[in-house]
Amino acid sequence: PQAAPAPPADAARPAHVKRVIAVASGKGGVGKSTVSVNLAAAFAAKGQRVGLLDADVYGPSAPRMLGIDEEPAFVDGKLQPLEAWGLKVMSIGFMVDEGAPMIWRGPMASSAVRQMMNDVAWGSEADPLDVLVVDLPPGTGDIQLTLIQKMKIDGVVIVSTPQEIALIDARRAASMFRKTATPILGVIENMAFFTDPSTGAPIPIFGSGGAKAEAERLGVPLLAEIPLEMTLREACDAGRPLVATAPESAAALAFVAAATAL
Ligand code: ADP
Repeated sequence: PQAAPAPPADAARPAHVKRVIAVASGKGGVGKSTVSVNLAAAFAAKGQRVGLLDADVYGPSAPRMLGIDEEPAFVDGKLQPLEAWGLKVMSIGFMVDEGAPMIWRGPMASSAVRQMMNDVAWGSEADPLDVLVVDLPPGTGDIQLTLIQKMKIDGVVIVSTPQEIALIDARRAASMFRKTATPILGVIENMAFFTDPSTGAPIPIFGSGGAKAEAERLGVPLLAEIPLEMTLREACDAGRPLVATAPESAAALAFVAAATAL
């Protein structure tokens, strides 16, 4: 396969954004959006000014996961992010009906993501964002490459379940970031275990040890092992970040610990 060129030296972050952290996965359905939303909420809980860009334009999850059902306003040539749970949020899902298919070729999707990065009023001189969390689409396609090559991404967090089939694709994604000189900040293992309600023992439903081994192979920290929790699924479905609504739950504490390590 062709080696992807590294980002140009003049690649920039969006205006008034101090740090851009992308959340990536090899496969869909491993919990990348769940992690993005809760990591963003964890940064906010620590007092940071936080934005969340839902760059998964073919399957936007932010509107539903954050319970936002509004259209962003356009002011002075910039789209205004919507605010929920202390986060500034932008998603293509705010502009199309839920259920409407995004029938876009790669270049169009990439250009939509670049616009959501650059033409959104994420921050201002007086009120800059400390961190913009970018929920990438799964895999290693056009959108990821465009973002890596045209924007400054300070680092990437890779999300995987412990299952080998998810780890194989996570490895592919990691390799793309390595080839483009994008720093990998760490790995988050999602659905790491289920706590047996009667004994409290961790049950490794999707296997165990794989994400830790992968993090070691990459020479990066394993930032969190997020349990499979019904409350986390319920919070996602109800449009609430678990970190904001059940901060003492095991999963929420793990997200906050990951944000602290980042
Ligand atoms: P991806 O972004 O990788 O496609 P999502 O974050 O959309 O995956 O996750 C799919 C669904 O799985 C979420 O809506 C949520 O309901 C559920 N989910 C994700 N992680 C967990 C978890 N650790 N425990 C329980 N449910 C989870």
